[in-house]
Amino acid sequence: MKPNNRAPRLILALSAVVALACAPAPRVAATPAAVTSTQLSANDVKWSRTSAEHRAIFIETYQAAAERVATLSAGHQPATWGVILDADETVLDNSEYELGRVPFGGSFDAPAWTRWVMEGRAPALPGAVAFTSRVRELGGKVVIVTNRDDAECPITRSNLDRAAIRADLVLCKTTTDDKNPRFDAVQNGSAAPHFPALAILEWIGDNIQDFPHLKQSIRDGSDDGFSRFGDSYFALPNPMYGSWQSNPFM
Ligand SMILES: [Mg+2]
Repeated sequence: MKPNNRAPRLILALSAVVALACAPAPRVAATPAAVTSTQLSANDVKWSRTSAEHRAIFIETYQAAAERVATLSAGHQPATWGVILDADETVLDNSEYELGRVPFGGSFDAPAWTRWVMEGRAPALPGAVAFTSRVRELGGKVVIVTNRDDAECPITRSNLDRAAIRADLVLCKTTTDDKNPRFDAVQNGSAAPHFPALAILEWIGDNIQDFPHLKQSIRDGSDDGFSRFGDSYFALPNPMYGSWQSNPFM
């Protein structure tokens, strides 16, 4: 994910460091008082990288989104509609970078993140290639809206190509983290020269802010606020980082 959205991470539980460093050391159990809302557990990274459940959720979500977009796109002319997806932890898997941060307490490191991004070898997450291919087969356009810095956009496009995510347009961050102006630009035809205005039929992301005008505060309301999820909004899990880290610990 982009550096400036990341909350600072505190000291990782010693047991996790021991497990990854393969060096014997006393195990210290974290007490409830020691757990903070921004603490990264090695479990977060392990679940994301190794669990069958993570893979299952990504596959089922993308399959559901593909089935739904086939219905939603009926009657739309080709190249007049599209979908908007986030990049990091939505179509691109950066968990290798996250794994590398675990021995350092999971703290975000801008130079390390930049090095990872510039390697351009983040793999596709499960289901993402099939979904984006299906959208294009149906006549839709695939738009990636990411808060990676604009200077990182060329390598991000290369990374997407390498991962077989065929995007018609990639919009990186320019002046604001807020994705809504870019969502609007895609829909009103001002996003890029010669790129048509699109009816956006679906949004997919791992952060609530990947969806128009949504923030963590949606959780304070009723379930009615989530009515578009499973219809035109599809959310993916990310236990490693996200805007949820700023929520009060309960
Ligand atoms: Mg993301």
